[in-house]
Amino acid sequence: MVASEVRALFAVASRPEVVSLAGGMPNVSALPLDQIGELVKDVVSEEGTAALQYGSAQGDPVLREQLCEYMALEGVTASPENVIVTVGSQQALDLLTRVFVDPGDIVLTEAPTYVTAINTFAAFQADIRHVAMDDQGVIPSDLEEALVRAELDGRPVKFFYTVPNFQNPAGITMSAERRAQVVAACERHDVLIVEDNPYGLLRYDGEPEPTLYSQSEGNVVYLGSLSKTFSPGLRIGWALAPAAVRAKLVLAAESAMLSHSTFNQLVVRRYLNTFPWREQIKAFNSMYGERRDAMLNALTAMMPAGCTWTRPEGGFFVWATLPEGIDAKAMLPRAVAERVAYVPGTGFYADGRGRDSMRLSFCYPTPEQIREGVRRLVGAIEGEVDL
Ligand code: PMP
Repeated sequence: MVASEVRALFAVASRPEVVSLAGGMPNVSALPLDQIGELVKDVVSEEGTAALQYGSAQGDPVLREQLCEYMALEGVTASPENVIVTVGSQQALDLLTRVFVDPGDIVLTEAPTYVTAINTFAAFQADIRHVAMDDQGVIPSDLEEALVRAELDGRPVKFFYTVPNFQNPAGITMSAERRAQVVAACERHDVLIVEDNPYGLLRYDGEPEPTLYSQSEGNVVYLGSLSKTFSPGLRIGWALAPAAVRAKLVLAAESAMLSHSTFNQLVVRRYLNTFPWREQIKAFNSMYGERRDAMLNALTAMMPAGCTWTRPEGGFFVWATLPEGIDAKAMLPRAVAERVAYVPGTGFYADGRGRDSMRLSFCYPTPEQIREGVRRLVGAIEGEVDL
């Protein structure tokens, strides 16, 4: 295990004079904290003996029903007994890897992919293989090739991990056609899909695409999270899995942590029951949409020739690629001297690629800070070009 590049950046990026385009922290200060305070107080006074007691490793049954209603917003039909609550979707990734991956087993992922998923797969000594993407998402011929190559190697592919909506880090959304092709390819090769969808409801324009889960007959494990649409501090995520997989995940969760935080689950249960959370998501979307626009407009107005970037329809991230010969990792000290931080692209690959790329997040800074951050970033890039 090695420290993630994103974590190592946190200390620098949190200095007040630095505009951080690095971390992916949701802007929880947009939540009405007084109302949430009342709700927490009610949990203690009305349900305190349950909230302060042990619970189950599968998670609170009422919360699991509510999570099914939440998933229905994205067209997922689920039954609560196939849902397991997890400590953020991160724990679901850990449990799945624990259950499925023996050292040397292959895990396929998009290129680039979510950094902490890479770290989790690597911690269980998976052989992580990347599949290329374009602006429509993962490229089916590349996926097919990776599946066939694994078969020729005689090594099992344990799953294909994908973040189909507003991908972290690339900001790309997989098109409907690609989703159908990915589901078909993985079914043909009998390879499980792990669909990680923490950002799906944070869409600022365009139309939602169908989930991979809803297009498959039991070959997809779907991961959800309330971290971006409510609070990452409460650590409520979940996995929706075929019964046999779900049973193993519950056993793994029991040995990892015995029981969830009953308290946090009851807070979330009450939030989903009594708070206008759909309206809250709309409010988040208008705030994040404005920030996304601020970033795309600033990049269009200021980035030097030769730079390219993605145009996310939602989520938190833009992926920028620098002109030939500029190394985003080597440039970081110059950027920090200019008082801006980003995450160099290399952290999002298992194989050292990504030196010419960076992830820019627009979720936390204000539109004004984003414009200033991009201005400083451009200063750093121009400094490298002048060398
Ligand atoms: N998957 C992806 C793609 C993410 O971006 C994140 C958070 N950065 C997670 C999973 C984990 O989120 P959490 O554990 O807070 O639900």
